[in-house]
Amino acid sequence: MGKKYVYVWNKNRVEGNSKMKDILGGKGANLAEMASLGLPVPPGFTISTEVCKYYWDNNRKFPEDLAPTVEEAMRELENVTSKKFGDNKNPLLVSVRSGAAISMPGMMDTILNLGLNDESVEGLAKLTNNERFAWDSYRRFIQMFGDVALGIPHEKFEEALNEVKNKKGVKQDLELDANDLKKVVELYKKLYKEEGKEFPQDPMKQLWISIEAVFGSWNNPRAIKYRQINEMDKQGLLGTAVNVVAMVFGNMGEDSGTGVAFTRDPNTGEKKYYGEFLTNAQGEDVVAGIRTPKSLDELKNINPKVYNQLLEVMDKLETHFRDMQDIEFTVERGQLYLLQTRSGKRTAAAAVKIAVDMVKEGLISKEEAVMRVKPSDIEKLLHPIFDTEELKNAQYIGKGLPASPGAATGKIVFSADDAEKMAKDGEKVILARPETSPEDVGGMNVAEGILTSRGGMTSHAAVVARGMGKTAVVGAEDIVIDLKNKVIKSNGVELKEGDWISIDGNEGKVYAGKVKTVRPEGLAGDISVLLEYADEVSVLGVRANADIPRDAKVAREFGAQGIGLCRTEHMFFGSERINKMRTMIVSKTEEQRRAALEQLLPYQRSDFKGLFEEMEGFSVTIRLLDPPLHEFVPESDEQIREVAKTIGISEEELRSTVKDLEEFNPMMGHRGVRLAITYPEIAEMQTKAIILAAIDLIKEGKKVQPEIMIPVVGNVKELTILKESIKQIADELIKENNVDLEYKIGTMIEVPRACVVADQIGAEADFFSFGTNDLTQLGLGFSRDDYGKFIGDYIEKGIYEKDPFQQIDREGVGRLIKLALDGGRSANPKLKVGICGEHGGDPDSIEFAHLVGLDYVSCSPYRVPVARLAAAQAAVNYKRGKTVNY
Ligand code: PEP
Ligand code: MG
Repeated sequence: MGKKYVYVWNKNRVEGNSKMKDILGGKGANLAEMASLGLPVPPGFTISTEVCKYYWDNNRKFPEDLAPTVEEAMRELENVTSKKFGDNKNPLLVSVRSGAAISMPGMMDTILNLGLNDESVEGLAKLTNNERFAWDSYRRFIQMFGDVALGIPHEKFEEALNEVKNKKGVKQDLELDANDLKKVVELYKKLYKEEGKEFPQDPMKQLWISIEAVFGSWNNPRAIKYRQINEMDKQGLLGTAVNVVAMVFGNMGEDSGTGVAFTRDPNTGEKKYYGEFLTNAQGEDVVAGIRTPKSLDELKNINPKVYNQLLEVMDKLETHFRDMQDIEFTVERGQLYLLQTRSGKRTAAAAVKIAVDMVKEGLISKEEAVMRVKPSDIEKLLHPIFDTEELKNAQYIGKGLPASPGAATGKIVFSADDAEKMAKDGEKVILARPETSPEDVGGMNVAEGILTSRGGMTSHAAVVARGMGKTAVVGAEDIVIDLKNKVIKSNGVELKEGDWISIDGNEGKVYAGKVKTVRPEGLAGDISVLLEYADEVSVLGVRANADIPRDAKVAREFGAQGIGLCRTEHMFFGSERINKMRTMIVSKTEEQRRAALEQLLPYQRSDFKGLFEEMEGFSVTIRLLDPPLHEFVPESDEQIREVAKTIGISEEELRSTVKDLEEFNPMMGHRGVRLAITYPEIAEMQTKAIILAAIDLIKEGKKVQPEIMIPVVGNVKELTILKESIKQIADELIKENNVDLEYKIGTMIEVPRACVVADQIGAEADFFSFGTNDLTQLGLGFSRDDYGKFIGDYIEKGIYEKDPFQQIDREGVGRLIKLALDGGRSANPKLKVGICGEHGGDPDSIEFAHLVGLDYVSCSPYRVPVARLAAAQAAVNYKRGKTVNY
């Protein structure tokens, strides 16, 4: 016996079920399932997706034994319906519908009323005692068949239809009677001739041409594009199935109709029946929007029996499929039929509400609930978005990278100072800069959003904006931000300082003018319940990258379980502090440096205390100073003047010091642990500040878990040198103060060499934290600051699937991580390991972190909710058998 290609369902037998979506497609599998449940489904059969694959693999040929099987299935359909295909007394009509395993709404073809010809149309007229209905069905079929199966342009049919309407002086199709429709059929047939096509009178011929057209539509340009956009190509789809289903008619009079019903409100998620329907209509009329449908409630008055039956069916389907269902139904002369059911599309808010409600109703488990919501849904619900109506009329001017989510609108300013001034006057502003620097942080803080024309996803603007939860679009390369003339130019549009501009940090889009924003509900209600479920399910911990107590507070509110990275250099961004930091950096002697450090210590101590307080009971990882120096050296005349005054040297001398500090490659320069190797006093001061802050709190009876982290380590000796000095200072302070304080010392792993010698480093460290920003930069050799210029080409050509600074490049950087993890744990089985680069907030990278066996991820506070959900989903996927595939 050959392979099975055709699966039948009818009142006598059902061959498929809802688990067979891969070969029956979503529609076919669920029709079979509904038939098994004894629900009123018109009988039919599915030709499997394997035939589609065969057809395309074999130069558009069908398997040899397909034809007899389909013919046999047609005979069975005739038997169960007691009708005959092509009969002139009691004709069987069918629909031929596409349906892949994953729904692709409107992308592929469907043909209705198939089986009509010059004879059977008369039979249908007599049988239904409705000549108009029969001829309307016939002309619809000829039109659909010509358009879909033979490629005759749709407009030509419309022209012919209009010709008849015009001659009669009417506007609506419904005003045409049976005789008019016969004329339309004549004109349509003439059109076929003019186009050199033939309308087949033989129903079997009609069927085969239609089946072939549906399989053919799998590879029409719009379907291919749809699969690309929705990343469906990797999912191993075989193709579309073809469903041949006995027609039922919603257009047989006022006791007939067709509609769509949802078991819950797809907009809000509320548990109430929702839907619409049209009386005396076929499905295509609902889609075409010619008449306004009525709400489902009205069906209650029109036909209470059908209404009640439909509600019963809806309940049954939702309970059976354990998800909100989107159902297509038709009523033929007071008789209800179901044409389709599937999990309904829903808004982000509805997704969360439905998932939580269904757990409370006992319908699904917490694990399932967590899988029902996309991480991007959570993102959407936590940040402002543009009002969809206003967005339709907005003037689009360009695109950059979506660096920090949300939507923001404000008046354009070109400097941080102006931003602060205008914000003080109560204005909403967008800070536009070619790129930002630590100097701009004050302005960024008061702005609604940040727009830059340079830089990538880990540029200063991107990292700082994300940390602040501020909308940002960065690296918008075709938008010219002209600071000198204070104008923005893009796509022929010119905007001046003070003009309104709107930026969309979810999509990276920029619009001229003011677009209203709406802020969705915060981390309350259903979202917070869902995330509690997520925490129960997940294995991976989620911490936050937070530099100041205010950020730590936000992080806690979003559910962070500790701080995975405090970038201590960021504590000096404030205008009062930055010059003290600069002073330290340009100090010429150890004495000068120690004096500057002495001034920095109190700030650090009180900031650390604040962090520990906010995170009481959780680990707080504080990284020793890691400033790429170029971010901090004084640049402007004013800065030079001030710093020179503070350290008591001439401006001239300072300028030459600054010049000495200049590096060709600051990202690979005198930063991280290298600074501490040259200037041990910096690490000493920071250790003091950390330990003293912890001691302060212990004395207040609080719990503190400090972790001191050393950045940019590549050689174990860097660690051993630092560790010795940290231990000595810390232990002395602890002893002096007579307190019980445990602290940990660990390293960042962000230099490829560290991954290779991780066994040596692991033997000396309590923990590893992967700095995936630098590890990507150094691993791929792509500069963090300007890879944006070419990354688009790389992604377009498929060299990297996604921006490697956003999503971990599993097969490269991922393997480095695995190497380091194995090495580190082999030397120290208790080694705690996490990720604190920007990837810590990316769902795909979080999944990788779980699969490879890390302990936690750490991300900016506003990404913590998304990370919590992604961590839980990773745990479920792992349980379901997913493994790392490099
Ligand atoms: C990293 O490199 O991933 C990291 C977290 O450190 P930074 O971004 O501060 O260099
Ligand atoms: Mg780093």
